[in-house]
Amino acid sequence: MDKLKLFGRRDSAVVYPIREFLRRSVVDFEWIEVNNDNRIVDDGMVSPLLSKDACAIQFPDDELVVNPTVEQIARHLGWINKPTQAVYDLSIYGAGPAGLSAAVYAASEGLKTILVEKVAMGGQAGTSSLIENYMGFPKGISGAELAERARQQALKFGVEILLLGEGIKGDFSNNRINVDLASGDKLVAKANICATGVEYASLNLHNERDFFNKGVYYGAGAGEACFCTGEDVFIVGGGNSAGQAASYFSGFAKTVYMVIRKSNLAETLSDYLVKRVTHNPNIVILYNSEVKELEGDNLLQRIKIFNSETGEETWHETGKLFICIGGKPNTHWADATPIIQDRNGYLITGSDLLSHTDFKGCWTKDRLPYHLETSVPGSFAAGDVRFNSVKRVASAVGEGAMAVTMVHKYLAEL
Ligand SMILES: Cc1cc2nc3c(=O)[nH]c(=O)nc-3n(C[C@H](O)[C@H](O)[C@H](O)COP(=O)(O)OP(=O)(O)OC[C@H]3O[C@@H](n4cnc5c(N)ncnc54)[C@H](O)[C@@H]3O)c2cc1C
Repeated sequence: MDKLKLFGRRDSAVVYPIREFLRRSVVDFEWIEVNNDNRIVDDGMVSPLLSKDACAIQFPDDELVVNPTVEQIARHLGWINKPTQAVYDLSIYGAGPAGLSAAVYAASEGLKTILVEKVAMGGQAGTSSLIENYMGFPKGISGAELAERARQQALKFGVEILLLGEGIKGDFSNNRINVDLASGDKLVAKANICATGVEYASLNLHNERDFFNKGVYYGAGAGEACFCTGEDVFIVGGGNSAGQAASYFSGFAKTVYMVIRKSNLAETLSDYLVKRVTHNPNIVILYNSEVKELEGDNLLQRIKIFNSETGEETWHETGKLFICIGGKPNTHWADATPIIQDRNGYLITGSDLLSHTDFKGCWTKDRLPYHLETSVPGSFAAGDVRFNSVKRVASAVGEGAMAVTMVHKYLAEL
């Protein structure tokens, strides 16, 4: 198949989510940069299609769409479907490592399974440049590739995948889980697994939204590294995702600055990454530091960093700030249900429910909840969205598989 062609300006806010979606979905595309005079960079050709801050995509069948939405692209690629069954054995929300693993195991064990994903396959892991600590990949594997392999495996076993679908409301009655999707469709299943993970947190700066995708990015998608060539790049956060991004981006950027609040990395970063970032001459770690202000004319141009140890405030010129400071669980859909959450919104499951004050009042079975089962029988949670989860690819994959075993037990009761 011919490649997709994506035309746009390097810093355009409209082009970033498209580039990120294509990369995370492992769609091979040719990036063709257009400069401010609507000329294709390096080629001297005029591109009359693009007004300021526009982009265009040319599909292999030659259809050209100016300013496409991600949905238009997914539809064109044949990735947006409607549920085909009136009732599924299992619906899974979220196609990160936990949801993909659950889908593969469920379908391979004969359950009629549907997997619903709001953004792109792979979840957070899909944004990772190189996962090096997942068993079986001694040279590491990119998150997007891992997700694509799992997607193919799930399809092989007959999972239905609903991409760009979002579960927004759940109702549990007559041993059925009825879910309203954002599209207006309804999905009915006998059991469900919530694997909706977490969403990146912001810095809460007053003008942060103004620079969203115009220099300020949540997460550090590996696909952006080549757009940082020769630049000073700032990555906020001291966790594994920040460390991994710093290490990868250092191969492209002039200098990568890691901005961390604490005075050391050991508390938050895996040992192998601590060694890697501290020994990398291209990475500067700004300890005891926080980003306090953002400035720029439409695009981000500079940031102010406060050092809590010295009390100093310093302005740094940069057009790239990647925020990797963890996030909040995607559980708003459960707010109006009897599913018990902790105070941060994580779903409480299994034996962790027993000590919760609301548990006795809402649990309807004369058995105890299964491992990974929420306070609603038949509704399970796996991966980062779960209270007390280990925030790792392997544990998410493991929980996805384990949740399916519990689903079998539950279905046998019906
Ligand atoms: C950049 C980065 C690098 C990382 N590197 C590593 C690593 O090297 N090793 C490691 O072990 N861990 C790593 N992690 C952590 C690891 O990726 C996570 O622990 C793991 O992805 C969690 O998987 P999950 O399936 O629980 O959730 P997620 O990966 O968060 O996936 C949740 C999915 O649910 C979707 N969703 C949300 N709400 C809805 C809804 N209402 N309906 C439908 N879908 C919805 C989201 O769009 C998302 O795709 C990294 C994380 C990041 C961000």
